[in-house]
Amino acid sequence: MHRYTPADDRALRAIADYCLDRLAMEAPLDRPLSPAELEDLAGQTVTPGGIGPDEALRLWADVLGPACLSVDHPRYLSFIPSAPTKAAASFDMLVGASSVYGGSWLEGSGAVYAENQALRWISDLAGLPAEAGGAFVQGGTIGNLSALVAARESASHKRGGRPRRWAVCVTEETHSSVKHALAVVMDVDVIEVPGDARGRMLGTALRDTVAALGDEARDSIFAVVATAGTTNLGVVDDIAGIADVADEHGWWLHVDGAYGGAGLAAPSVRGLFAGVERADSFIVDPHKWLFAPFDSCALIYRDPVQARVAHTQHASYLDPVTVEGEWNPSDFAIQLTRRARGLPFWFSLAVHGADAYRDAVEQTLTVARAGADLIRAAEHVQLLIEPDLTVLLFERIGWDVDDYARWGSELLADQIAFVTPTRHDGRVCTRFAIVNPLTTVDDLALIIDSMR
Ligand SMILES: *Cc1c(COP(=O)(O)O)cnc(C)c1O
Repeated sequence: MHRYTPADDRALRAIADYCLDRLAMEAPLDRPLSPAELEDLAGQTVTPGGIGPDEALRLWADVLGPACLSVDHPRYLSFIPSAPTKAAASFDMLVGASSVYGGSWLEGSGAVYAENQALRWISDLAGLPAEAGGAFVQGGTIGNLSALVAARESASHKRGGRPRRWAVCVTEETHSSVKHALAVVMDVDVIEVPGDARGRMLGTALRDTVAALGDEARDSIFAVVATAGTTNLGVVDDIAGIADVADEHGWWLHVDGAYGGAGLAAPSVRGLFAGVERADSFIVDPHKWLFAPFDSCALIYRDPVQARVAHTQHASYLDPVTVEGEWNPSDFAIQLTRRARGLPFWFSLAVHGADAYRDAVEQTLTVARAGADLIRAAEHVQLLIEPDLTVLLFERIGWDVDDYARWGSELLADQIAFVTPTRHDGRVCTRFAIVNPLTTVDDLALIIDSMR
């Protein structure tokens, strides 16, 4: 590479200015472009001689950036959005600029120390023991997979062998990443426990399902996954009841709080999570409802030693970082080289303090409750599930798939909102997922009114 030049300096300052502007403004929603449109507007960007920093940044600012939706827009309510604080988003730039290797204590002790304090805050909210710990990984998908691999490894060690097949209990509402990890990545059987009327797994249903299995199938189970905030419906499983059954059978209890785990910070809903303190592993994505930028999942084990047995990679070239008593984030998940992706969350938590997090989560809950009231009061829409957290699932009475599609595209084309259809019980409907403290009741009213 060439040495640092005045052009680099100009680019660097222009990038810093762009980021400051982006953080200071209320950014538009923006819209996706087709491959042909992008080809037309951006053309070939990688050339033998390089297009230089000014042109590359211009392309980003004028063409490529506006072709990416702003997930932190207050009326981006699809999937699970993200709403990073300015502190978290700006610290993300610092992480990139600092060339920190986040995989090992030897190389990143300061970063790992800070990340571990953030993990500690989450562990304490969950009521996990003092020795609990883990690492920040890319997202809930890798967090769930890593936890389930550790669970299976632990079961193998405990049994001194493996059954013909392994199995894990889930529900229909369990996140796709868990089912994919089990069925495809791990080749493990998935046992579906019927949910209650709101799709929650209850301890009683789990017990009944397992009692109805043959001995071999029952013996193949090594874990159960409870969801603390299902993605589509936003409800919390009966974690305490599930933990009882897990204890009876000696299974590993994994709690997937990728979205809803943030609710642990809010006194008004904390009671829904009773039993989470009994989890063997727990995840929550700070990039969802904890105001951090992508991509960041806090993966925490009750007994990190078991996770280390499963995940530490062994090779002569890694001996220098494999030091007894040193906390290597790479030892707790399927990863080696690692961006210190927990740092933006840590910085924002350190800056604002835990009370501000409690208040911000409560703020979104308050808006979600008011939104539910609006839907209950309006005649043209109908709430389909009583919400536990900040997901509102509802239908526009009389609409079919095409109506939702047309309405959703118009809202985005008009830069009003991003709301996509989903399905529940075989019916097409839509949902709001509210994780942004800047989303107001008026924002929700505007969208609900647009469905008249
Ligand atoms: C979003 C989500 C996941 C997957 O997390 P990613 O960060 O998207 O990989 C897993 N479980 C639940 C409950 C989720 O909401």
